[in-house]
Amino acid sequence: MFKNSLKAFDEAQNYIPGGVDSPVRAFKNVGGTPVFIERGEGAYLIDIDSNRYIDYVQSWGPLIFGHANEETLNAVFETAKKGLSFGAPTLLETELAKEIVELFDSIDKVRFVNSGTEAVMSAIRLARGFTGRDDIVKFEGCYHGHSDSLLVQAGSGAATFGNPSSPGVPSDLTKHTLLAKYNDIESVKRCFEASDDIACVIIEPIAGNMGLVPAKEEFLVSLRELCDEKGALLIFDEVMSGFRASLKGASGLTSVKPDLVTLGKVIGGGMPVGAFGGKAEIMNQLSPEGPVYQAGTLSGNPVAMAAGLITVRRLKKDPTIYETLEKRAKNLVKGLKEAADNASVPLQIDVRGSMFGFFFNENEVKNFDDALKSDTKRFAKFHQEMLKRGVYFACSQFETGFISTPITDELIDETVEKTKEVFKLI
Ligand SMILES: *Cc1c(COP(=O)(O)O)cnc(C)c1O
Repeated sequence: MFKNSLKAFDEAQNYIPGGVDSPVRAFKNVGGTPVFIERGEGAYLIDIDSNRYIDYVQSWGPLIFGHANEETLNAVFETAKKGLSFGAPTLLETELAKEIVELFDSIDKVRFVNSGTEAVMSAIRLARGFTGRDDIVKFEGCYHGHSDSLLVQAGSGAATFGNPSSPGVPSDLTKHTLLAKYNDIESVKRCFEASDDIACVIIEPIAGNMGLVPAKEEFLVSLRELCDEKGALLIFDEVMSGFRASLKGASGLTSVKPDLVTLGKVIGGGMPVGAFGGKAEIMNQLSPEGPVYQAGTLSGNPVAMAAGLITVRRLKKDPTIYETLEKRAKNLVKGLKEAADNASVPLQIDVRGSMFGFFFNENEVKNFDDALKSDTKRFAKFHQEMLKRGVYFACSQFETGFISTPITDELIDETVEKTKEVFKLI
């Protein structure tokens, strides 16, 4: 069933470390080997052995209209014909910037980059430049890309100052990153007690990188108050939740206004794009208007802007898309839950817009420690069995699933039927 993929993976490993260009693709967490993709078609991925899968990963979020969407592709083709990159301003950048500024109350100005990692890295620099402070606070289990300051794990003991979570990251750098516990305001207060040099607090307001764990509203409100009191900026990392949790992302589901927002994934419609934006007063500190340096040869690339623009405009034109996607996401996890209950498998479920999550866990998951108590072995079996039955879920317990428009009610039902079989096996 996976003959060609197995061979392809063997060969790739000779030339590419681990055979992949991003570690999570290697299926290590589920003890399998990755399938190599030949093409996508709407809801489906087709691998090089001609297996078809209903795809709940959707390139880790960007493809809200599914694979090889015709309107997105046409925008890409038409733009590409005029040239792939100019390194000079184009109208497309202003157009996409306008759409984003109109939608996000907290964004007066926005700058485009090429990835979420870059967006967050630049937003952090801007926050540091704006406040004249060096330290930052992040939350355990939140992922903000792979830049040095953000690849941090909890230190031993009660210390809140972080340690590098990868060799190659100087501890001199990560000592400026303090770690707090998600949904726990006391842990953030402890960070502010430990340092009076905190430039910003960065959070995924709907965490999607430890599985799906939304922040509680009262927690975000307290976080905002604390940042105001201490003169630190609040950054919402909406690289995943932007245009996914709602048209306005997580920002559209909370009363709390951040100072800066980072975006990515959906705003590129499948092309590499990231963006960060915020209050004009802060954004104007960026070079060339201000002193904080930030740049990029391919930033605001016209082809990527065109893909993002058509995606965002279509979403704006028909915001009922989110109701439809949310209804389907809810039906999916409800079906999963029933199947799990019938097989006496403990399962926690949650949905935010087109994002869904499920943990093989006895208790509600409010933070990373809770998430880590999930049964990853059982998840791995679940993943393997679903894959064999033509359903492609993210290959780790600690990821979020995505519904895209071509994933119909019928496909959700089909998936649920398959989970019934699988839950009995695991
Ligand atoms: C995916 C993601 C990033 C990193 O984006 P890349 O495009 O992979 O660099 C940053 N923050 C969050 C919340 C993400 O989900």
